Amino acid sequence: MTENKGKLFVISGPSGSGKGELCKRVLKKGCARVSISATTRSARPGEVDGVNYFFITKEEFERRIKVNDFLEFAQYNGNYYGTPKDYVISCLERGINIILEIDVQGALNIKKIMPDAVLLMISAPDYSTLVSRLRGRGDTSEDDMKERLETSRVELAQLPKYDFLVINKTNELDRAVETVCQIIGGKEMEENKTKHFESFANDFYLI
Ligand code: 5GP
Repeated sequence: MTENKGKLFVISGPSGSGKGELCKRVLKKGCARVSISATTRSARPGEVDGVNYFFITKEEFERRIKVNDFLEFAQYNGNYYGTPKDYVISCLERGINIILEIDVQGALNIKKIMPDAVLLMISAPDYSTLVSRLRGRGDTSEDDMKERLETSRVELAQLPKYDFLVINKTNELDRAVETVCQIIGGKEMEENKTKHFESFANDFYLI
C-alpha cells in the first residue's frame, strides 16, 4: 500500500467480546470508518438495515457472490456474511482508514489478498465474562449461544495469526477504544502484540 492510501484494519473476536460496541465508539471518535457488511441472518431487535448490516436474502447473496461483489465472504453459524468490495476499495483509495468487523475466516482471507491489513482480535478477559455478556444480551437463544461459545474456541485458537490483542475488560470499554484508536493511528502498542499472549487462548477457558 502506498503512503497516500488508507489503511485496512480487521477487527474480529468471539461473539460477546464487545467488538460491535467498540467499533461504534471508534467510528464516533473519527479514527476510521467501518464497513457495513451484508448478511442473510435476520435482524435482531433494534438493528437497522443499512446501519448494522445490509440484510439480504440467501438468493440475493448468492447472486452477488457470482458477480464478484464481495471482497470476502464467509458462512458463520449457518448464515452468509460478506464485505461489499466497492466501499472498502474507494475509502482506501481516498486515503481513508477503514475497519472491517468480520469473523476469523474472513480476516485470514483478507490477509491473503491484502497482506498490509492489520488484524486485531478483541476478547473478553475470560470465559465466564463472555458467557455472562452473551446471556445479558437477551437476544440470543440458548442453542445459538452454545454454538457461539463453541465457535469462540476456534476463533481464539487463531490469535497467533493476528497482529494485536485488545482485552475488553468489564467497565473498561473506553480504554479498549483508546487502544484501538492508537493502533489505527500507527502507535507501536508493544504490550498488545499477540506474541505476548501465547497462552491466552488456553488460559481463557480455565475457570
Ligand atoms: P453477528 O451475527 O453476531 O452480527 O456476527 C457473527 C459474526 O460474523 C461475527 O464474528 C462478525 O464479526 C462476523 N461478520 C460480520 N460481518 C462479516 C463479513 O462481512 N464477513 C465475515 N467474514 N464475517 C463477518
